[in-house]
Amino acid sequence: MSLRPKDRPHDDHRSPPRIAIVGMAIESSQYAQHRAGYRDFVVREGDEVVAWYPFLAPGTELGDAAQWLGVFAARSIPGGQVLPEVYDDFKARMLQGLAALDPATLDGIYLEVHGAMSVDGRDDAEGDLVESIRALVGPGPLIAAPMDLHGNVSERFARGVDLPTCFRLAPHEDSWDTRERSARTLLAWLARGGRPHRAWVQVPILLPGEKTSTRVEPARSLYRRIPDIEALTGVTDAGIWIGYAWADEPRCHATVLVTGDDPAVIGPVAEGLARALWDAREDFAFVGPPGSLDEAVTRAVEHRASGGGRPYLISDSGDNPGAGGSGDVTWTLQQLLAKPELAADDAPVTYVASIFDQAAIDTLFAAPVGAPVDVTAGARVDGRVSPPVRLTGTLIGRYEGDPAAGRIAVVQHGGLRIVVTEFRKAFHSTDDFAAIGLDPALADIIVTKIGYLEPTLYDVAQGWTLALTPGPVDQDLERLGHHRITRPMFPYDRFAGRPPLKARIL
Ligand SMILES: [Zn+2]
Repeated sequence: MSLRPKDRPHDDHRSPPRIAIVGMAIESSQYAQHRAGYRDFVVREGDEVVAWYPFLAPGTELGDAAQWLGVFAARSIPGGQVLPEVYDDFKARMLQGLAALDPATLDGIYLEVHGAMSVDGRDDAEGDLVESIRALVGPGPLIAAPMDLHGNVSERFARGVDLPTCFRLAPHEDSWDTRERSARTLLAWLARGGRPHRAWVQVPILLPGEKTSTRVEPARSLYRRIPDIEALTGVTDAGIWIGYAWADEPRCHATVLVTGDDPAVIGPVAEGLARALWDAREDFAFVGPPGSLDEAVTRAVEHRASGGGRPYLISDSGDNPGAGGSGDVTWTLQQLLAKPELAADDAPVTYVASIFDQAAIDTLFAAPVGAPVDVTAGARVDGRVSPPVRLTGTLIGRYEGDPAAGRIAVVQHGGLRIVVTEFRKAFHSTDDFAAIGLDPALADIIVTKIGYLEPTLYDVAQGWTLALTPGPVDQDLERLGHHRITRPMFPYDRFAGRPPLKARIL
């Protein structure tokens, strides 16, 4: 399809379309005591915003197909709710930047949001953001939004965005493909003129991401239906937003959205996909072998005793920063320290990542490497399920300058190698460990705050338990207690039959 613009307001049939890029992306657990503030976000403005996208580089097909106008983009790893003053400031900077571009001359807006951002005291943060942008720029520009499939998509949000789309893989190995597809779709619609419709279907399902990985069924087959749907005449894009369970708002549920030019096609197609999702609901199960932490440690020790290869991975899933965990919950570390089979000098070599605590790091950096240490750490931000932990042992390593973690110290206690950081960090790749002298191949056991294993850890794991530990992203959703989600909701309530699953055409 040609990417030449036509039928846009200012168009002279030769100039490339003007597309502004704005965004604010974070996945926020409302059950975390962490609050996301300025330090959590990486902010880009102006040309830096455009430069972040390799597929928009000058000389590339997409880069040259439009005048890409970087405005403001803030991005954070998942965390707790955003401080309202930070959200208001970022939103104002997006709106001021768009206003400075003269919205009447804009053809499109490329909006990067996650879909599961929560702002303390507010509902439907992304819906508010889109509505505010639409109010400023008016009905003219097409808005495209590449999103995470763990987003909660309200009708309000879907009304404001012309071209929403989301990842099709979890783990999100297709995040860049999705962003590129979104840009391509936006350009294609600007070239052909007119505006797409959306078919929005609310599906009353709320499941943790660790039950909906596309590495396994039924999510694998469900998401693999999308390319065939997209190939239908009249359809532009289709997405299954499986939703985000660690928030408590009416918008928390799964959503199917199909975009296209023919409401008579996209409505039934969206409803069909929603029915397929609903009918598969009982089949969603944990992607890895689940268990309690005790079971996980027992299996890991048996794995080693029976000559299994290194390392055995244990996901401390309740405080996974990658899903919105606070990152300083001490519950798992407390349990591990209390286990004689891990604390003895001949115990399995067990890396434990991580807790952050600035004061503890100050103390650990005051002692020489090799010195005995005795510090209290963690639970400064999130003490809901466990108090700070007393850490005794030998300081065996110190590192500075990690972009996320700042300073890092490693304390040995028996077989345990405990990672303490200055600031919040997720240890989700083998490089994260190798960078602080903890070679994953030399560990019998690696315990880290993660859910399903991200690719490099997945590749090295010789055994694995998804430990269902308590914390801000507890996989046992009923332990959290939702009050504000729309009922009935699977799996909390009984359904007399299949819910309506009717598409709203927007
Ligand atoms: Zn996600």
